Amino acid sequence: MKRILVTGGAGFIGSHLCERLIKEGNDVICLDNYFTGSKNNILHLLDSPFFEIVRHDVTTPYFAEVDEIYNLACPASPIHYQYNPIKTVKTSVMGAINMLGLAKRVNAKILQASTSEVYGDPQVHPQTEDYWGHVNPIGERSCYDEGKRCAETLFVNYHQQNDVLIKIIRIFNTYGPNMHPNDGRVVSNFIVQALSGKDITIYGTGNQTRSFQYVDDLINAMLLMMQTDDSFLGPVNIGNPDEFSILELATFVLKLTNSSSKIIFKPLPQDDPTQRKPDISLAQEKLNNWKPEIKLEVGLIKTIEYFSKTL
Ligand code: NAD
Ligand code: UDP
Repeated sequence: MKRILVTGGAGFIGSHLCERLIKEGNDVICLDNYFTGSKNNILHLLDSPFFEIVRHDVTTPYFAEVDEIYNLACPASPIHYQYNPIKTVKTSVMGAINMLGLAKRVNAKILQASTSEVYGDPQVHPQTEDYWGHVNPIGERSCYDEGKRCAETLFVNYHQQNDVLIKIIRIFNTYGPNMHPNDGRVVSNFIVQALSGKDITIYGTGNQTRSFQYVDDLINAMLLMMQTDDSFLGPVNIGNPDEFSILELATFVLKLTNSSSKIIFKPLPQDDPTQRKPDISLAQEKLNNWKPEIKLEVGLIKTIEYFSKTL
């Protein structure tokens, strides 16, 4: 039985990861400060004697004897990571230092949940891992983008200097059940708006694109990545390459919810990336031919079902 620490375990992705790790027979510690996560996401796991939760902030050190660490702690939605940008940088950077320090001390393997945001507003399309990105270092998104970039640097430095076993994945837009209704990201916003008869808020023209991955596909990739050969560190893109405009997404959500909500247009936030789509050839090569299985329509239906029950 492996002892596994999941930071940010009460969040959207973290809660799915904890559930899956327990199902696979591991002993799981879920660490969270509940900034954007919720105990409701993990309540159902508390019956298991192999699941424990710890209220802790990754900006201060934490110690536990574990074999593996998944480092997810960090607000991921623009409205939440911009709420206290200094704290976002601290969470990414000091959180990475503290978790890497722990990994070094107890000889644990550690996986970093990095992001497609390291590519900024990309000038290469689709994005490959060797693209260095196009990030504004002083813009509204920089606390998150640069924090995550620095965390990648720290991971590689701890590997080179201290032989820590590291894995880096760059996650592209992921959605599914357990997203907070006020999360602010586009899929949950549109579904919540459509279900409650409110206007659907498109920022800008809606011609900007994203590629949406259902959470189960990501969790499969995270487990496969942790099991790859020690010599493969990443970074590796994990996402669904099916690309949609935000306007297409809005139309899709309206159709699937059978909603009569109106679409309205609001100003585009600063530095909002124009297009985003992962090249996943490296993931397919290194992760046993992994590829996303859940089409947008199927994933949206599952997510709509979840929000219909919880709202
Ligand atoms: P989320 O906001 O639902 O989860 C983040 C979790 O981290 C929350 O439970 C929050 O309370 C916790 N947290 C935040 N700051 C903390 C701190 N200082 N100490 C301890 N816990 C803290 O977001 P998510 O979508 O589940 O994202 C999880 C991870 O995946 C993040 O690191 C995010 O950057 C990364 N990621 C997500 C996406 C996506 O589309 N969902 C895309 C790229 C990267
Ligand atoms: N967006 C939108 N309406 C919303 C929320 C987001 O039009 O209510 C847009 C946003 O401007 C961006 C895209 O949807 O172009 C994805 O936004 P999200 O915050 O989900 O993720 P990110 O921009 O970090 O990829």
